[in-house]
Amino acid sequence: MGFVTGLKCVMCGGVYGTRVPYTCPHCGITGILDVQYDYAAAGRALTRRALAGRPLSHWRYRELLPLRVGAAVPSASVGWTPIMEARALARHLGIRALYLKDDGRNPTASFKDRASSVGVARALEKRARAIACASTGNAASSLAGMAASAGLRSFIFVPERAPEAKVAQLLVFGATVFRVRGAYEDAWELCRQACERWGWYNRNCAVNPYLVEGKKTCGLEICEQMRWQPPEWVAVSVGDGCTIAGIWKGFREMKALGLIRRTPKMLGVQAEGAAPVTRAFHSGAALEPVQARTIADSICVGLPRNWKKAVDAVRESGGTMVNVSDDEILEAIGCTGRLAGVFAEPAAAAAVAGLRRALADQIIPRRAAALAVITGSGLKDVRSAARAVSGPHEIAPSLDQVAEVVESQRHEEQEDH
Ligand SMILES: *Cc1c(COP(=O)(O)O)cnc(C)c1O
Repeated sequence: MGFVTGLKCVMCGGVYGTRVPYTCPHCGITGILDVQYDYAAAGRALTRRALAGRPLSHWRYRELLPLRVGAAVPSASVGWTPIMEARALARHLGIRALYLKDDGRNPTASFKDRASSVGVARALEKRARAIACASTGNAASSLAGMAASAGLRSFIFVPERAPEAKVAQLLVFGATVFRVRGAYEDAWELCRQACERWGWYNRNCAVNPYLVEGKKTCGLEICEQMRWQPPEWVAVSVGDGCTIAGIWKGFREMKALGLIRRTPKMLGVQAEGAAPVTRAFHSGAALEPVQARTIADSICVGLPRNWKKAVDAVRESGGTMVNVSDDEILEAIGCTGRLAGVFAEPAAAAAVAGLRRALADQIIPRRAAALAVITGSGLKDVRSAARAVSGPHEIAPSLDQVAEVVESQRHEEQEDH
């Protein structure tokens, strides 16, 4: 399989061949496996020059993906999302330079497309008849969309309280959706059993070692798009933990290949009401599950399965972790939209809120440059967005009433200056 040499358990360090289907045979479900590559060989093929002529999607990094040469991939264009400098937002936060990488511009409007597209490519390679996952959120809609673009069937297990809008997105992509009367854990277990029984490919990130490889392409892209000089800090929100671990792996690999000299420090951001990873990071102890509660549904995870990978990644980078309140997240949705023109869902805005917090706490110096990964589009959760802003001006069809609003805004602006 390309340049892959084996799979290494993050718990016991055991190394296995790629025939092991999902998790470590010794550690069981907690033994998450990490894909290892022959970097010397990959580096000879993946040069700056070779990259210059490749398609502008995340498949340009094929030497660092767990796929055969010439493997079939979904036709949707995943990755190579824009990075923009956000000057007004940088001034608002009080930092010298701020960049946003807008991953809400992926085909199904979230970062999860990076992982799902690799999962679907793997399923095609294994000639699986279908692909499945248990999720209420972006992982599910992304899988359904990527499967549809590759002509593969998808089966999605959602808990009873899954939001209507997200179920609609799944159905539009043609997924068979099972709404399971029970909690998320019930849906997850049922999905695992169904995959075993019918031979479907299991997309659940917690057990599948290949998906995170798709996530790391965000880190690879940041290096290349910033002309091999990534900023000093990169902020990423953390739920399960596999996104931040994936992005860090991308930076580490770029360094291993000699394409960058200095890796960024990772700022992991959790919501105050769902922060078991931050706690484990600062205490050094094993993770204690919590009863999670936050407006940022995509990072509302009480029992994260990739916490160890996330903690190790942040530590290795020399970075740290902070928490932000729901109010800070709402403020970040507003200022990221107003000052940078980027509409972020709550979990994505959390990264911006985290930078603000880290600047206030003097963890990040004001003379630094930082990048926030905007992991999902605000259109995913319009109801939360509405809470972040004031409503429209209700008026009759009369120019006088427009004038009243315009005049009062002019007064406000004068008072501000
Ligand atoms: C899944 C997700 C995250 C967090 O990723 P984890 O791997 O769960 O830590 C952040 N933002 C958005 C929009 C997501 O969908």
